[in-house]
Amino acid sequence: MTTLENGSSTRELAGKRALVTGGSRGIGAAVVRQLLDAGAEVLTTARSATNTVPEGAAFVPADVRTRAGAEALAAAAREKLGGVDILVHNAGGARPHEGSSAIPDEEWQDALDLNYLASVRLDSLLAPEMRERRSGTIVHISSAAVLTPEVPPFLHYVAAKAALETYSRGLAAELAPFGVRVNAVAPGRVATPGGEATREQWAEVAERMGVAPDQSDGPTVPLGRDGHPDDIANAVLFLVSSRASWLTGRNLIVDGGEFPMG
Ligand code: NDP
Repeated sequence: MTTLENGSSTRELAGKRALVTGGSRGIGAAVVRQLLDAGAEVLTTARSATNTVPEGAAFVPADVRTRAGAEALAAAAREKLGGVDILVHNAGGARPHEGSSAIPDEEWQDALDLNYLASVRLDSLLAPEMRERRSGTIVHISSAAVLTPEVPPFLHYVAAKAALETYSRGLAAELAPFGVRVNAVAPGRVATPGGEATREQWAEVAERMGVAPDQSDGPTVPLGRDGHPDDIANAVLFLVSSRASWLTGRNLIVDGGEFPMG
């Protein structure tokens, strides 16, 4: 719920139906919580059922990397919500390797499936209904790492997110004439379970490679700290609200000012 300066509050997304992927922890859970607070009805998914899904959200287990997972999720959204007004593609991530050529084929495919094709598949199932209704909004969670792809251990991840950003812009152009808005959010370094696990894996890989692991936090971020999941959720909530009604095809970088502009 948004509290106004005069003490009153607004549930500005009341009546909206939202689907968020990867809402059981980290950034996705923060997005789910903020959508619920703003009055939206929310369905979320992860591979495993978990008690960390924010209270008040409906949950359906699904693996978004597969066509079958996307179909099950779209069907659940129709059954439980009656349709989707707000679609947030948040599930994502990848494991680092000792350089780009050490990334096995199946992990390239996995990175593409999770960070890029999952959105393409689910959008292809749900965007036509938004287009038909002439309303709806989609947010793709990318990564500010797209701006600095010179980190070979993560090239599969960064390349997949770069594809996602280009796709997001193209889909926005396709759907704009129908009143459907599509945007991306690119987080910098955010403190989440997935983020921390990846950084631990990266420290191990960096040690094997004999290079310094990326220890950037605090002082290297102009705003002086790592991100909190709510910093990203704030941006998502803005983009899906009517406050952003003249905004589509954009990629909002939320990184405490750390990354160079592309
Ligand atoms: P977490 O790993 O903390 O959470 C990921 C969520 O997605 C979990 O709910 C997880 O549940 C779910 N998920 C993972 N794989 C699948 C799958 N195949 N199918 C369905 N659900 C899945 O991630 P973060 O919160 O750190 O990241 C969220 C997004 O933000 C990602 O797209 C990430 O790339 C991006 N990002 C994060 C940054 C960071 O520093 N944290 C920086 C830049 C971008 P389960 O494992 O049970 O499936």
